[in-house]
Amino acid sequence: MKIVIIGTGYVGLVTGVCFAAVGNEVVCVDNNISKVKQLQEGIPTIYERGLDHFLKKNVFEKRISFTENLGEVVDSADLIFIAVGTPSKGESGETDLSYVLSVTEDIARTINHDAYVVIKSTAPVGTADKMKEKFHSVIKDLGKEDLNIFVSSNPEFLKEGTAIEDFMHPDRIVIGTDDAESKNRLSELYKIFEEDSGVPVVYTDVASAQLIKYASNAFNACKISFINSLTRYCDTVGADISDVAKGMGLDKRIGRAFLNAGIGYGGSCFPKDVASLKYEISKKTKNDTTGILSGIEDINYKAWHWIVELVESLISQNKVPAKPNVTILGLAFKPDTDDVRYSPAVNIITELSNICNIKTYDQIAMKNAEIALHKKEDEEISPNFDNITYCNYLNDAVTDADIVILCTEWDEFKCILADDIVSLMRGDIFIDGRNALDQKEMSMFFDYYCVGKPHIYKN
Ligand code: NAD
Repeated sequence: MKIVIIGTGYVGLVTGVCFAAVGNEVVCVDNNISKVKQLQEGIPTIYERGLDHFLKKNVFEKRISFTENLGEVVDSADLIFIAVGTPSKGESGETDLSYVLSVTEDIARTINHDAYVVIKSTAPVGTADKMKEKFHSVIKDLGKEDLNIFVSSNPEFLKEGTAIEDFMHPDRIVIGTDDAESKNRLSELYKIFEEDSGVPVVYTDVASAQLIKYASNAFNACKISFINSLTRYCDTVGADISDVAKGMGLDKRIGRAFLNAGIGYGGSCFPKDVASLKYEISKKTKNDTTGILSGIEDINYKAWHWIVELVESLISQNKVPAKPNVTILGLAFKPDTDDVRYSPAVNIITELSNICNIKTYDQIAMKNAEIALHKKEDEEISPNFDNITYCNYLNDAVTDADIVILCTEWDEFKCILADDIVSLMRGDIFIDGRNALDQKEMSMFFDYYCVGKPHIYKN
């Protein structure tokens, strides 16, 4: 099939490359010209395992191409996917649909036949109607009233870090359509996934498909916040959160995934999607049931803010100098991605840079983190840039540190040699925000704090 994908970020690029790999003719469109140029050379614009090879192969074999010119390609598409961002508008949690609607306008201006459009972006129920309204108002002005737009929803569930594997072997594919032709085209496109790998395909109306995405993300965020809600209690009563999670997770009704206690979730999806669902429910229903979603957000804030409070208490107890040297290891919101959107590490640096000297290190996500920190310049609590140093090597980052804080559990950090690290430090405090290291071993060299486990003091 001929597929056009508009928006070539984390989702659009992986979607494009994977559809190309299973034999479709794909054109990816993006309005960021430097991104398009880089992709035309077969160079990935994001860090994602396996993408480099997959991209080069499909560019070389001419199954995928990249352009900034939407008008040149929409007419030839059997299906037009929209994969642009749908960020939060602000504090309210309302979703900013301006990118989706601007693309809809571009499609309406340039297309010369009926448009079969699929929203891959995570967008709230009601988006399809707004797109149809926009489409019809534009074509009316252009005197093309005989054209029509059919909007379907095909939400994406890939996870950064394992995006290609997730796309090629998803747990399920959700197709939400309100017209027969869109359903035919989408089922044709996904037939190969269903037939070759036995992936279940869930056919629904558009509204249900969109809600499946929000409900799934909110539920997974809920699991993370649920386990994090028990961490301080575990510290206090001498229970071990990892054992609690293991024991809970073996219950098939619960499952082990997303029960890792830590400094909370981040990324481009969970925070904005929980906020958006909360906004939509409270706007559309009289019986407000959003308390659970507010609870998820509140616990997630407390999960990373615990680190800030712990450092403050170490300062006030004189366990470290009044303005300690603090090293932050890991900046991405999770390992195996360069994405730092809503990363707990970025929040922690923002607050701690006002009371500590910060050195930070992340082999993959450092440039993005620097940009993200600068975007916080005008927020109520903004980073103190004079106190932040970005290090290219782990050893430089930990040299002279009073406290080392692990924020992202990259494999590189999981195999650090505790005695090597402590020998470079000025102090000996290690805070493991992801329970990524062996508590007993670390406690031999450090005053080692982890999440939801009784504190073991250095021998
Ligand atoms: P992203 O910011 O990485 O990519 C969006 C891309 O759209 C950018 O390259 C941008 O330049 C481009 N763009 C914006 N306006 C455009 C326009 N008018 N014309 C052409 N291109 C335009 O975003 P993302 O992380 O890929 O997320 C996209 C959507 O997918 C969001 O709705 C997100 O919630 C959803 N989603 C993301 C993930 C994830 O892990 N990142 C997973 C599932 C779903």
